[in-house]
Amino acid sequence: MTIQAVNGRAFERHAETALLLAVGLHAALVSVAHLGPGHVWLTGGAYLFGQLLCLLIAAEAYRQGHPAQRRLLGRFALALAALWLGDAVTFSFELRGLPLPELSVADALYAAYYLLLGGALLSLTRLRLRSLRTLAMTLDSLIVMTLLGTVVWTFLLSRPAPLHAAGAAYVTLDLALIALGLLALRQQRLNRPVALICAGLALIVGGDLHFALVGAYTSGNRADFLYLWGTAMQALGLWWRRDQSVRGVQWRPPRPVRVWLAAFPYLTGGLTCAALLLTRPAPVTLWGAALTFLLILLRQSTVLEENRLLARKLRHTAAELERRGSLLRRQARHDVLTGLPNRTEFEDQLRAALGGPAAVMFIDLDGFKDVNDTFGHPVGDELLRLVTARLRAHLPARATLARVGGDEFTLVLPGADERQALSAARQLLGSLRDPVEMAGLTLPLSASIGVSLAPRDGTDVTTLQRRADTAMYHAKRSGRGQVQLFTPSLDEQRRERFALEAALRRALHAREFTLHYQPQLRGTALESVEALLRWTSPSLGPVTPGRFIPVAEQCGLILPIGRWVRERACEQAAEWHRQGRALRVAVNVSPLEFAQADFVPHVQATLARLELPAHLLELEVTEGVFVQDLAGTAAKLQELRRAGVRISVDDFGVQHASLSALMALPADALKLDRSFLSGHDALGHTRAAGPQVLRAVHTLGRDLNLDVLAEGVETPEQHALLRDLGFEYMQGFLFSPALPPDELDTWRAAHSTSQHG
Ligand code: C2E
Ligand code: MG
Ligand code: MG
Repeated sequence: MTIQAVNGRAFERHAETALLLAVGLHAALVSVAHLGPGHVWLTGGAYLFGQLLCLLIAAEAYRQGHPAQRRLLGRFALALAALWLGDAVTFSFELRGLPLPELSVADALYAAYYLLLGGALLSLTRLRLRSLRTLAMTLDSLIVMTLLGTVVWTFLLSRPAPLHAAGAAYVTLDLALIALGLLALRQQRLNRPVALICAGLALIVGGDLHFALVGAYTSGNRADFLYLWGTAMQALGLWWRRDQSVRGVQWRPPRPVRVWLAAFPYLTGGLTCAALLLTRPAPVTLWGAALTFLLILLRQSTVLEENRLLARKLRHTAAELERRGSLLRRQARHDVLTGLPNRTEFEDQLRAALGGPAAVMFIDLDGFKDVNDTFGHPVGDELLRLVTARLRAHLPARATLARVGGDEFTLVLPGADERQALSAARQLLGSLRDPVEMAGLTLPLSASIGVSLAPRDGTDVTTLQRRADTAMYHAKRSGRGQVQLFTPSLDEQRRERFALEAALRRALHAREFTLHYQPQLRGTALESVEALLRWTSPSLGPVTPGRFIPVAEQCGLILPIGRWVRERACEQAAEWHRQGRALRVAVNVSPLEFAQADFVPHVQATLARLELPAHLLELEVTEGVFVQDLAGTAAKLQELRRAGVRISVDDFGVQHASLSALMALPADALKLDRSFLSGHDALGHTRAAGPQVLRAVHTLGRDLNLDVLAEGVETPEQHALLRDLGFEYMQGFLFSPALPPDELDTWRAAHSTSQHG
């Protein structure tokens, strides 16, 4: 098998074995060579063959090499090529029986070998020139090199024979290579390939030393072992290293070894001292020792410089740590988005202000969630920053503004009394009056502010904050853009509301609801009934819809409750229908329910499921459904009416829908709110609804082709008045309150008897 025939894959598998065989063959030949003539051919040939194999392996390692390794591998391969050529020249002299000249082409090639090998070792060291560390390590290597040089000279070379010139040059070059090798070892830490390369180097140095001492070269001498084995180890090192990245698997010598390595220059320095004291030194030895000490001094100066730099870095690190620490401390107490103090910082400020009077405010943006949901969080964030800027610009002196939640701000105003607090709060509201222009949008702004006062409403941080929050909550409920001072009754109301909400959450599952039905009469005849929800809570007792419906609307519970009411009312109507006593049932619908996309489909599905004729269902909507999406509401109502469901407008006249909007809506009836009759509306305000107003509403309804029902008829006088004004369709306690189905049945029976009787 010729070497040329060895392809890449065979190389993969057999490189190591081939190398071992070649080295072994050479060793075997050398040990038996002196037995016969012509040994030069054999030993020299085997030697050259082995070196060629090393060269090929190095070249293949270069070809396959990891990109990060190629420079190193290339330089090594070139070095081995120069070596091989040099060896070949030397061998040719030998074969021709010519003496090897003192300096020949071979020496030039060997010099090239040293230079290239030096270059390769240099790339192993990965020196970064100008770095202090590099300088220190270079000095370390120089120290070792000088020391070794001095020792070798003193104890080996200066002695009996005059030194062969080329040999001396080789040993010097070797020393330089050893210095580089040591550098490489220290920088690379130790891994197998690097260790092999360096060990190979050491063997070659041994060979050179032998050559320098003997001063002549013949094939088959013992030094050839060292050369060939050294080269083989290097080739193997390169072969193993070919697929490693520079930072490949590395082995760090154990700590004791590292300590000895670091102390090595000083130890050898000490040994040299001892040697100088104990022997009569030759001039070269003295010069070597002097040079070593000079280098050690220089090395010491790098240590001092290193220490200075280290101290500076430490100072810098400490300052940086301090800076980051204070930044972290600040961030822990401030809101990142607005830069305002956060809750922790605010509470500390509030605590500090609590020695005397102080006002605490809770500021909540109105409708911020809508902005966030509609336009996205970046717009929401920008809005918060703008709001912060406006509030800041209108902040009273000494006040601290903080952001404690999404759109929630708090403020403490030390020393403020009620008057000052209210004026400050109004000023803050005023700052938000103008809408903001942002990203091509015009966004209206407003906020609700609750105020609590120390010491009147509390003397500790928690109470004052909670009470300001309670007041804000009420401000929000009584309309947007309001300021509300805390009063003890607010606390009571809020507690009640929480209790109500908690009880309400259980009510539907616990079957605590029932439906009652209140008759609606046309003339004396029963025309329809209104389904009214009744709730008896085990903990709160009977609760009127006037109390719990608004709570259910606010917490969204109205959706499942309303659905239950619709289904239950339709079931009742279907039952009466099946019994041949058909009666239209009117069901109240809250605006939130009506706004659901599945509202109309659910009504239609319920009618279909129960086989209830649509004209037996009436839906009572309030003006609230019209306020937002007039066109959408009209379309839904129209769809229901087309299906045959009757639509009436409940509580007519107490809300704020414009008359034109009402007129645009498809409805069948108006239910005139009972405050028109009683003279008191739900809030207890007196309404002057004289006969003229009632007559006007009646006329309006008739002109619009709407049935008009008068609610809340309690007395015969009211009944008479309404009849005189032309009202026919009525509902009220005068006729009957809302009754459970069975009682209504009894009422119906009695009523029809009295009618016919
Ligand atoms: P509404 O729809 O206007 O219902 C009429 C209310 O007036 C009922 O009060 C009824 O009991 C009461 N009422 C009837 N006749 C008289 C009378 O002669 N004098 C007086 N003072 N009151 C009379 P109720 O049952 O307390 O319901 C209050 C409101 O709660 C209802 O007003 C309605 O808006 C709401 N509501 C009741 N049930 C439901 C329901 O199932 N769903 C929804 N969304 N709201 C409901
Ligand atoms: Mg109603
Ligand atoms: Mg009503």
